[in-house]
Amino acid sequence: MHSKISLIPGDGIGPEITRAATRVLEASGVDLDWDIAIVGEQALKEQGTPLPDSLIDTIKQRRLALKGPVTTPIGTGFRSVNVALRKKLDLYACVRPCRTFPGAPTPYRDIDIVIVRENTEDLYAGIEFTPDSPQSAELKSLIGDAIRPQARDSAGFSIKMISQWGSERIVRYAFEYAVKHNRKKVTAAHKANIMKVTDGIFLDTARRVAQEYPQIEFDDVVIDAMCMRLVKNPQVFDVIVLPNLYGDIVSDLCAGLVGGLGLAPGANIGDGIAVFEPSHGSAPRYTGKNKVNPMAMMLSATMMLRHIGEHQAADKIEKAIADVIAEGKNVTYDMVTSADVTPVGTSQVADAVIKKMEENSNAGKIH
Ligand code: NAD
Repeated sequence: MHSKISLIPGDGIGPEITRAATRVLEASGVDLDWDIAIVGEQALKEQGTPLPDSLIDTIKQRRLALKGPVTTPIGTGFRSVNVALRKKLDLYACVRPCRTFPGAPTPYRDIDIVIVRENTEDLYAGIEFTPDSPQSAELKSLIGDAIRPQARDSAGFSIKMISQWGSERIVRYAFEYAVKHNRKKVTAAHKANIMKVTDGIFLDTARRVAQEYPQIEFDDVVIDAMCMRLVKNPQVFDVIVLPNLYGDIVSDLCAGLVGGLGLAPGANIGDGIAVFEPSHGSAPRYTGKNKVNPMAMMLSATMMLRHIGEHQAADKIEKAIADVIAEGKNVTYDMVTSADVTPVGTSQVADAVIKKMEENSNAGKIH
C-alpha cells in the first residue's frame, strides 16, 4: 500500500469532480489512503487564509496530492492561490498531456502532445510595480528614453525574469520525461528573436541541454509560428517545452484541439513532490449543479497512478474513459456531438466509467 495521499477537493466544481475521480479510483481496485486537506474559500472561512501553512506541511509530508481547482478569493492578497502553492512547494514543472480520444468533440485526430511548462519564472514570478510606486519611478529613470514622455506617468511594470538555472531544470525535465515515456521529439517554444535576453537564455539553454540527449530529436519554434502550426498540423508535435506564460496559453490551445478543458489533465512536479490537478479552474457558476465533465480530473488521477507505478489501474480507468467517450451516450454537455444525445451529469459519468471498467474486466479486455 502506498503512503497517504493528500486529497484537496478545492472550490466550486472541485468537490464534485474530486468525488467522481475518487469513486473511479476505488472501483479500479487500487489501494489508496486519502488525507483530506482544505484550501481556498473553505480554508479562508475556517483558518483566515486560503492557503494555510498546514496544507503546505501536509503536502510536503505526503509528497503526493490530488487536487481540485481552487478559486482565488478577492481581497486576500493572493494574485492566485494556485500560483502561490506551486511556488511554495517549488513545483517547477507543469505537465499537461493532450491527446485525442475517438468520439471527443474535435475535428482533429491522432494528437498526442505533452506540454511541459516552466512553473516558477517568467512574467508569473509576480514582480509587478504599479505606476505610482517608487520602484516604477526608479525603473523609469533607469529605462530613460525607451518610455515615451506621454506614457511615463501611467506606465506600470510586470517584470519578465528567466534564468539559465530555471531554464535548465525545465528543459532537462522535458528530455528526461521524453526518455522515460518513449517520446521521440522535444520542441522548445520561444520568442528569442524579440525577447533576446530572457527567451534567448531559454533557447540557448534548451539547445545546450538537447546535445546531451542525442537519441531524442530536438527543434525550436518561435511561439507565434508554433500556434499556427499547432492549429494546422498538431500531429507533428510530441513533447513541447515552454516558459511559463507561453506554456499557460499553449496548454489551453492544445486542450481546445482535443475537445476542451474537460479533457485536459495535468500535474505540477517538483523534486520528489507532485500535485495532480486538471488544467481547468473552479467554474464557480456550475457549483453543485452536477453538470461539468469530471474526465480531466479522472485523467489527472491516472497520471498520479502512473507516477506511483500503478499502471494497471491507470490502464483500466483510461480504457473505460475512452470507451465512454467513444459510445458518446453518458457524457456531459461539453462532450455532446450529436443532437440525439442528452447530456448527463458529473456523477453519471463516474457511474458510466465504473460500469465500463466492470464490463471490460468481465470481457477479459483488461484485468
Ligand atoms: P474555469 O476553467 O474555471 O472555467 C471557464 C469555463 O470553462 C467554465 O465556465 C466552463 O464553461 C468551462 N469548464 C471548465 N471546466 C470544465 C469542466 N470540467 N467541464 C466542462 N466545462 C468546464 O476558468 P475561470 O472561470 O477563468 O476561473 C474560475 C476560477 O478558477 C478563478 O477563481 C480562477 O482563479 C480559478 N482557477 C483555478 C485553477 C486551478 O485551481 N488550477 C486554474 C484556473 C483557474
